[in-house]
Amino acid sequence: MRRVVCPGSFDPVTNGHLDIISRASRLYDEVVVAVLINVSKTSLFTVDERVDMMTAVTKEYGNVKVDKFHGLTVDYCKEHDIPVIVRGLRAVSDFDYELQIAQMNHRMSGVETMFMATNPLYAFLSSSLMKEVVKYGGDISGLVPELVHTRLVERMSQG
Ligand code: ADP
Repeated sequence: MRRVVCPGSFDPVTNGHLDIISRASRLYDEVVVAVLINVSKTSLFTVDERVDMMTAVTKEYGNVKVDKFHGLTVDYCKEHDIPVIVRGLRAVSDFDYELQIAQMNHRMSGVETMFMATNPLYAFLSSSLMKEVVKYGGDISGLVPELVHTRLVERMSQG
């Protein structure tokens, strides 16, 4: 069975993430979305909330599994016997960093990284931008799933 891991913070999941996950789900037998338990970075949503939202919005794909992890992605890959990581590339600005991580990961473990070019419709999207816009009352409909939109507005209104 061909499996791939899609790691990230997903705080929260956007339509840009979903675009990459859904396209990967057509190329592989199983996509494991690994949600990072951030130790240093503070997140708006807890890891369990992020996992819940991701599980709900990827259910329709049928072959996407959602899990949480901390530490190195390559250690997660080794533990679960997954040889490939998929990452989305939005722009040149993502490239330098992603290349470095991919090369380090390969050196450490032999795990390969596949880069997928972002759908231009979502190239400007990031979780942090979505949070910033909602915080000041801006409209993000069509950019995140409905469920995420509702949860973001709720969380931001709690201050
Ligand atoms: P990280 O904290 O590791 O950067 P993110 O949750 O921001 O994790 O992103 C996880 C993955 O999704 C990364 O591969 C990232 O490049 C990709 N990604 C983020 N935003 C988009 C987007 N708008 N379109 C396509 N891919 C994206």
